[in-house]
Formats: sequence, structure tokens, C-alpha cells
Amino acid sequence: MVSVVNFAVGKELLIGRTMNSNAYWIGGRLYKMGGMLDRVLTVTDSLEEISAGLKELLAAGPDFIVVVGGLGPTPDDMTLKGIALGLGRKIKFNKDAIALIKGHIEKVGREFELTPARRKMAMLPEGATPLRNDVGTAPGVRLVARKGTVVYCLPGVPSEMRNIFSNFAEKEIKEKLGEIHIAKVTMKLSGIYEAALAPSLAEAVKMHPEAYIKSHPRGLKAGVPTLELDVTVTSRETGTARSTYSELAFFLARRISQLGGTVTSRREKIR
Ligand code: ATP
Ligand code: MG
Repeated sequence: MVSVVNFAVGKELLIGRTMNSNAYWIGGRLYKMGGMLDRVLTVTDSLEEISAGLKELLAAGPDFIVVVGGLGPTPDDMTLKGIALGLGRKIKFNKDAIALIKGHIEKVGREFELTPARRKMAMLPEGATPLRNDVGTAPGVRLVARKGTVVYCLPGVPSEMRNIFSNFAEKEIKEKLGEIHIAKVTMKLSGIYEAALAPSLAEAVKMHPEAYIKSHPRGLKAGVPTLELDVTVTSRETGTARSTYSELAFFLARRISQLGGTVTSRREKIR
């Protein structure tokens, strides 16, 4: 399995000012690809916190660390400095980064001038590569840490994060994941309580511990209990995901009906 962790930087995420929608988005993207986000660590804007957090994540030796937030020009943006500190590297003015920043400024029709703010965004940890940002000024950053962990640093603004993630990080993670087949369904159920279904879910998990089976209670609708049930199977082999999935979906549908429940809708995806 390929391990990917998210390192979110920003006080606003810890004080209820901004929802960490970037972690939600990255997690969803990876899961759709057949991968998964193993962990999300959020820290405040502080050099010590960023550097300690990075060291903690690196100690587990993940394949990828996706750092998000704090790449901009404001004083609270100190991610690259913190990452460099955690890696024991210096930060250095990067010519390729300034070329990307200049390109962006000119693309939006402004005249380029090397201001302190722009210079700051071009100060990268030694050995890092800047990544083109199609929707904002601050370039993303890619570097390789010890034991081969690839570290991506992306801006916090969701549209910028998505742009750089899709163009660079996602491609590299996808390549590392290789060929993966996914078969999944979301069933909407009615007339059955989660507790009543629980023993059948346990049986299903026992049949196929590698599958992901998750129920989401959706409360009473006109006095009738409702649930959503997700079943996801991923496999490297063609056919395996499909056959395991069919077996589980068939088993659960039968149990639901035996327990007096109804499947009111099914959203299936097999590829
Ligand atoms: P910029 O160059 O635009 O300043 P940045 O990398 O410095 O980008 P931040 O200053 O950390 O990013 O955040 C910019 C905006 O993005 C803020 O409004 C912040 O709340 C939001 N943001 C940061 N991190 C996240 C996140 N994980 N999920 C959603 N929004 C976020
Ligand atoms: Mg900022």
C-alpha cells in the first residue's frame, strides 16, 4: 500500500475559523484512485510546530507527505522555513520559483517587480523544486526527504491547492499506486435500525476483512429509521474486486430484506 499523510498548517483550522476542507478533498481524491489518506496532522503557524510535526510524520516513513497552507507572503506564512528547519536544510532563493512567480504576475497583466513579498515566496528549502501554480502566485514545492519520502507543499487556498495537487502530487501518487480496481456501492436503506444490521455487518467483515463496510445512520424519516451503507472493495487484480463486491452486496441485500429493511436506492461504481 502507498502511504500518504496530510500535514495542515494554519491557526485558522484550529480555532473554528476555517474548516479543513482541503483534507476532506485530498482524502476523497485519493480514495477514488484506490489509495487513502492515512493521517491528517494539523498545527498552528509556528516554526517549532511545523518542524516538530514534520519530524513526527517523517519518523513513520510515509511515501508522501502533503503539506498544505502557509506558502504566501504574509508573516504567518512560514511553512517552507519550518519544513527546512525540520529537515535540517537551509532555505535558499530559488531562480525557478521566481520565474514561475514572474510568469504568473505577467499572465494576469501586471508588471513584475521583485518585491520582498515575492522574494519570500521564492525562498525554498535546499534541493526543492518549485511547481507551477495556474491559479495563484505562490508556487507549490516538491522535495525528497530522507528514506525517500516525497514532500509536497501546497498553498492553503483551496483552488490553488487543487490545481497543484492535480497537476503534480496526484500524478506521482497514482503512478506509485499502479493499477487498482475498485467496486463500490452506496445503498440507502429504510425500515432497519443500525443496531439490527450490526451483526450482519460483522459477518460480512469476517467474510472479507479487506473490504470497507460502513453504515451511516440518517435518522428517522416519518418515524421510519433510515441508513446509508457503503461497501468498497479495491484490488490489484482484475476480477477480484468485482467478485468480492458481488458476494458482499448479495449477502447484505439478502440480510437487509430478512431483517425487514428495504433498499430504496443503490449507487454503484465498478471499474
Ligand atoms: P496564499 O499564498 O494565498 O496566502 P497560503 O499557502 O499562504 O496561500 P494560507 O495563508 O495558509 O495559504 O491560507 C490561505 C487561505 O486558505 C485562508 O483563507 C485559509 O483559511 C485557507 N485555507 C488554508 N488551509 C486550508 C485548508 N486546509 N482547508 C481549507 N481552507 C484552507
Ligand atoms: Mg497566506
